[in-house]
Amino acid sequence: MIRKLLRRVFRRNATAGTGLTTIPRSRHGIRREQVSPAARRTCEGLQQAGFKAYVVGGAVRDLIAGIKPKDYDVATDATPDQVRNVFRRSRIIGRRFQIVHVMFGAETIEVSTFRAAHNEDTLKDAHGRVLRDNDWGSIEEDAARRDFTVNALYYDPHTEAVLDYHNGVADLKQKTLRMIGEPRARYREDPVRMLRAVRLSAKLGLTLDPAVRAPIREMADLMENVPAARLFDEMLKLLFSGHAVECLKRLRSDGLHHGLLPLLDVILEQPLGEKFVMLALANTDERVRAGKATSPGFLFATLLWHEVLANWEARKKAKQLSIPALYDAMDEVLQVQAEKLAITRRIAGDIKDIWSLQPRFDKRSGKSPLRLLEQPRFRAGYDFLLLRAASGETEQELADWWTEFQDASHERREEMLLPDAGPKKRRRRSPRKKPGGGGESPGEGS
Ligand code: ATP
Ligand code: MG
Repeated sequence: MIRKLLRRVFRRNATAGTGLTTIPRSRHGIRREQVSPAARRTCEGLQQAGFKAYVVGGAVRDLIAGIKPKDYDVATDATPDQVRNVFRRSRIIGRRFQIVHVMFGAETIEVSTFRAAHNEDTLKDAHGRVLRDNDWGSIEEDAARRDFTVNALYYDPHTEAVLDYHNGVADLKQKTLRMIGEPRARYREDPVRMLRAVRLSAKLGLTLDPAVRAPIREMADLMENVPAARLFDEMLKLLFSGHAVECLKRLRSDGLHHGLLPLLDVILEQPLGEKFVMLALANTDERVRAGKATSPGFLFATLLWHEVLANWEARKKAKQLSIPALYDAMDEVLQVQAEKLAITRRIAGDIKDIWSLQPRFDKRSGKSPLRLLEQPRFRAGYDFLLLRAASGETEQELADWWTEFQDASHERREEMLLPDAGPKKRRRRSPRKKPGGGGESPGEGS
């Protein structure tokens, strides 16, 4: 009788998020060998030094869901300095939160000290967004500070038990994404949680708890106060999650896609642009899931291509010569984006390479096709052409021609070349272009 009562109380506590449930290996299913050796050694090192240490967050969630974790986080009651003293190869990273990177071979484990609960002294902006929190606390407080119940799980590699303070394992098994605490308050503290809700639910195939979903539409504007660099990081995670198409669908159905990537909403509202972007995202998803390399340059080149096309068209209509018009259009589109997105110089260079190759695919006579094949960025440019054809922006026949031409024999290539377009007015170039300089301009070779 008493036991029954205890069990009921215990269960109620657990659902209310105030009780700790210790879940044994037989119920959560994580085998120690599945956990990265570096994460295990980090926990072991800290525990041997007398501290508590657990694998925490996304890695535990993913392991229970049967997904291979991307990276591992460890939470501990040791301070950053104490962690630093345990591991020879480690360093303190002092960004928004102070954390320690512990290195084992090529792997880096992020170790953070349990965080304290927020109180009246917590520094916030005018909209309630938390600006700083570096106070250390207990594991219970640390769990309560995390965003979703499925993210507040602590795995001890030594005992192989999972500590679950908010019923996260049950939510995960029931495929529900539930917020710890009151969703509106948690979104005000950090609006990026709205994006995380969408991304994680798409990645894990979870349904948003109605209380998590309902406020998003009306609170989406809070995203405007989030610093651009943080938003860009989150967008990169989303675009390269392997579930970008699903994420974007969910962002739209939850009214969250406006203003995330400037212009993305505009692009998605042009029929051709939408098809192109969706194909590009599906292509990226496939590559991510197959473990193939992906490049931000290529993806951003696709996201912004229809902006470039529109800008280029307008310039040609205003009688600017085609190739200089393209270059000016590229610069203008990138400049607008650079202000809001933290696109690095290197990525911008990759984007421009891909765009500037496009007009060169139209030239199928003389020497230019062979020269194009020798371009170091030919492959990226060609992949981009395939997407353009698949979306209907250019002819499939052109893409097929290049598919055949690049692998054809010398004789077959000769056959394939189209006759010259006839005598052209030659513009004299004086002085000549500097010899041997880097990439060719798209106008050359005709
Ligand atoms: P993934 O690594 O698959 O992108 P994740 O949940 O591990 O997803 P991380 O950014 O690696 O995401 O965060 C690690 C953990 O930190 C989360 O699982 C969560 O417990 C906590 N966390 C991350 N961002 C927030 C946030 N904005 N608010 C509260 N807790 C957060
Ligand atoms: Mg993670």
